[in-house]
Amino acid sequence: MGFLQGKRALITGIASQRSIANGIAEAMHREGAELAFSYQNEKLKSRVEEVAAKLGGGPSFPLDVTDDAQIDALFAALGQHWPDGFDILIHAIAYAPREAIAGGFLDGLTRENFAMAHDISAYSLSALARGARPLMQGRQGAILTLSYLGAERALQSYNVMGVAKAALEASVRYLAFNLGPEGIRVNAISAGPIKTLAAAGIGGFRKILGHVEANAPIRRTVTIEDVGNAAAFLCSDLASGITGEVTYVDGGYNILGMTGLDESE
Ligand code: NAD
Repeated sequence: MGFLQGKRALITGIASQRSIANGIAEAMHREGAELAFSYQNEKLKSRVEEVAAKLGGGPSFPLDVTDDAQIDALFAALGQHWPDGFDILIHAIAYAPREAIAGGFLDGLTRENFAMAHDISAYSLSALARGARPLMQGRQGAILTLSYLGAERALQSYNVMGVAKAALEASVRYLAFNLGPEGIRVNAISAGPIKTLAAAGIGGFRKILGHVEANAPIRRTVTIEDVGNAAAFLCSDLASGITGEVTYVDGGYNILGMTGLDESE
């Protein structure tokens, strides 16, 4: 029996087979969870439905997180699908306009880009947590989001997305603090770079992958399976004592200081 047997999970953020959310959905399905999904727009609907069909045939609902009415409609529909509630919310959503995540920090930064990156990539976690909260009462609920090292270090090209991820990680702590008394845990995984649609927008991404492969302690980049397995654990009762944390699934890259020094010189 899988360690998520009897759990119900809403998976957001699938845009392709390569999406981190897809890796999480696969791991959760394997461990026995019942899944429901959201898709950002009509273009992505059939892709998400394809994944859903392979992973237990759960329903898919529309969700653009910039639209409060869609957030309300999603949780109303979910409440009908699962009248006695659900246990796990996966938030795997981020966006910044392309010009803001290439070149220098100030080059593509505008008031509008800053607001949009924060709205979609950070605020949406709290908006979804607010919607999920009544449906998670009386259960051992778990909310999980995805972050990146750029939240805490200045990384080339990540720019405004790093600032939004810092807000996201702070949101994890405030949500954990406020929802903990209701039995809801809130965590983040800080994943190493993985080639997905969202990552393709980041300037120099291929070079980032090569650098991590050459320098991370495990000498490879992580996969959506690596992240999926850790996510399944963090959202299960096996992790019942863990909340408000950012857990690195990055092959140890975050521990590094200076690397590549030639000792013979
Ligand atoms: P992805 O492109 O597969 O997923 C991004 C998702 O965000 C898509 O499903 C897209 O539909 C959704 N999205 C964007 N705007 C939205 C909106 N307005 N409403 C609803 N959904 C919206 O890429 P991914 O890499 O799997 O990204 C998932 C999460 O993982 C993101 O938060 C990303 O920042 C994070 N992350 C990615 C990496 C990486 O290297 N790929 C590393 C660390 C963290």
